[in-house]
Amino acid sequence: MINRRKFLESAAALGIIGALPTKVLKAGNSKTSLGKSYKLPIILSTWSHGIGANDESMKVLESGGSVIDAVEKGVMIPEGDPNNHSVGLGGYPDITGKVTLDASIMGPDGNAGGVCYLENIVHPISVARKVMEDTPHVLLSGSGALKFALEKGIKEEDLLTEEAIKGWKEVLKKENKTPEINWEEKHNELHDTIGLIAIDTKSDLAGACTTSGLAAKLRGRVGDSPIIGAGLYVDNEIGAATATGMGELVMKTLGSFLVVEMMRNGASPQEACEKAIKRIVDKVLNHKKYQIGLLALSKTGEIGAYSIQPGFYYALFAEGENKLFKAKSYYKIHTNQ
Ligand code: ASP
Repeated sequence: MINRRKFLESAAALGIIGALPTKVLKAGNSKTSLGKSYKLPIILSTWSHGIGANDESMKVLESGGSVIDAVEKGVMIPEGDPNNHSVGLGGYPDITGKVTLDASIMGPDGNAGGVCYLENIVHPISVARKVMEDTPHVLLSGSGALKFALEKGIKEEDLLTEEAIKGWKEVLKKENKTPEINWEEKHNELHDTIGLIAIDTKSDLAGACTTSGLAAKLRGRVGDSPIIGAGLYVDNEIGAATATGMGELVMKTLGSFLVVEMMRNGASPQEACEKAIKRIVDKVLNHKKYQIGLLALSKTGEIGAYSIQPGFYYALFAEGENKLFKAKSYYKIHTNQ
């Protein structure tokens, strides 16, 4: 019988794009998406939950909304989806059973905001936006971030679902607690951070990144997603980048900032993603155990996508089509198995 990976590979070879009859969308033919300038607007995001997020983002742009509205509203889709166990509602909890969320947002004016270690709020991205717009700060954490959200009229809600508790218990049983890479591909279940970057028809760029972080992480652990320059970076003169995967590796190399700086120095988005992944491979000793996926979007409408391990998918909405692609990777076969 054809197994799931083989099926995905054949689907990719045939260039099948779009929905398959499973919980998770899978497809890919990366050749069609790289090395060209798309007409604006463009929305680019991580993993298959990016398809729904991109749809919502594009709706905002098409109805005349700003690029910052578009990125916020886009990532609110996976945040509000209880079947998505890595973002917002229904996210897998930390080692103590509490769901804690990280998010960041950055706009074309260079302004940025974030929240981390935030509990009981379905849409941390909206709190991050309020930090950006209503305070002189960039990052609020934990109880302070929650207090701020409540003061802004955002409602508190229990984020822990029955299904998330079940999945979390399975994670706790595992002897090897190293986070599983490409969760989505292995479990056919939505997983990992949503990082979404967008450019509108005026060539304005913005990005949003939101996650419940690693399943069963230590209490208090914060990942790359709320850290400007790590999980997300936008420079309206150059481009935008976002990251997913083992946040510690991205934080050690300031992955998204690195990608945008490389673009500033002349690299295409694809070259920049490849060089940044190479930097992680060269500098982070234990990188073989983990996955990192990087996405980049340039001011001129080119995109880039690259990962350490095979199996990183991204959603691209450009020129009227919203499709899923498989990124090229540094290693051609998994190095953590
Ligand atoms: N980057 C996220 C973190 O380390 C996790 C992920 O993308 O799955 O918190």
